[in-house]
Amino acid sequence: AKENGRGNLHFYNDAMRNSAAERLAMEKALHYALEKDEFYLVYQPQVNDRGYIIGFEALLRWHNKELGQVSPGRFIPVAEEIGLIGELGQWVLDTACHQLKIWQDAGLPPRFKTLAINISPSQFAKDSFVDTIQDVIERTNIDPNLLDLEITEGMLVESITSVAAKMRSLKEKNVHFSIDDFGTGYSSLRYLQHLPLDQLKIDQSFVRDISSDPNSHVIINTIISMASHMNLSVLAEGVEHGEEKDILMRIGCSRFQGYYFSRPVEVDTATALLLNDAPL
Ligand code: C2E
Ligand code: CA
Ligand code: CA
Ligand code: CA
Repeated sequence: AKENGRGNLHFYNDAMRNSAAERLAMEKALHYALEKDEFYLVYQPQVNDRGYIIGFEALLRWHNKELGQVSPGRFIPVAEEIGLIGELGQWVLDTACHQLKIWQDAGLPPRFKTLAINISPSQFAKDSFVDTIQDVIERTNIDPNLLDLEITEGMLVESITSVAAKMRSLKEKNVHFSIDDFGTGYSSLRYLQHLPLDQLKIDQSFVRDISSDPNSHVIINTIISMASHMNLSVLAEGVEHGEEKDILMRIGCSRFQGYYFSRPVEVDTATALLLNDAPL
């Protein structure tokens, strides 16, 4: 039993060493990833009730030679911790807006509304945030009306007045705002109603359970009815099955994103989807 225990302990230590080593390797590699051009963006379609593309969400990808493909869920928190998220966020903004300009010039399909870009709470919290966004709009010459900034309830660590002031400055330029992962944070709708928002994105955890869990059904129902009172659009994330889409449509949701329609795709495929302009 003792040996068994020691064996287990040994195994446990190895596992920890591995993950610590892995983490260290990730940190090291992240420092060079930008200059080595290891990041790229993929684009996931957002569709209306008939499956037509109304937008894309830009999602960050990292491919490193040693580590392989690392998911943003793993490397973004590390980038945040080691102080790289500012630079990386800037790269995402530049790259996404540059691509948006190309699509804009090629002619976007009639129902296309916005390209969504994820903004990390620390990016939003910077005093220079408004300037950063205005600057990328000017440099890339995009129509600001085509930009949807996805922020999370995490940005509410700042005072509501300063959050609202930043958003209002950009709102004046016609930039759109969505609340990402809505329902998973702690902010109340009473709080959010003071912000110039355009859309709530219902978190995929609710969508995943909608056909089996009556609670999720009730939560989504409530979000949709409150959003309509506040004049906000609602987009359901993580729609994987037709059945989920049908239920969501029945309760008044008409914007969707998820594997059922399309996975995030590389830029050439995204361009082809826009040119094709057919329902997904
Ligand atoms: P998110 O913003 O909530 O993005 C949606 C995530 O759900 C994406 O994961 C997407 O690939 C995934 N997804 C979409 N449809 C489905 C579906 O039907 N089923 C399931 N199971 N998943 C689906 P991804 O690309 O791995 O990104 C994870 C998170 O990393 C994002 O969650 C976001 O918080 C963060 N992230 C990604 N790109 C960026 C970025 O450029 N900047 C920042 N700050 N965060 C980013
Ligand atoms: Ca998002
Ligand atoms: Ca989300
Ligand atoms: Ca998320």
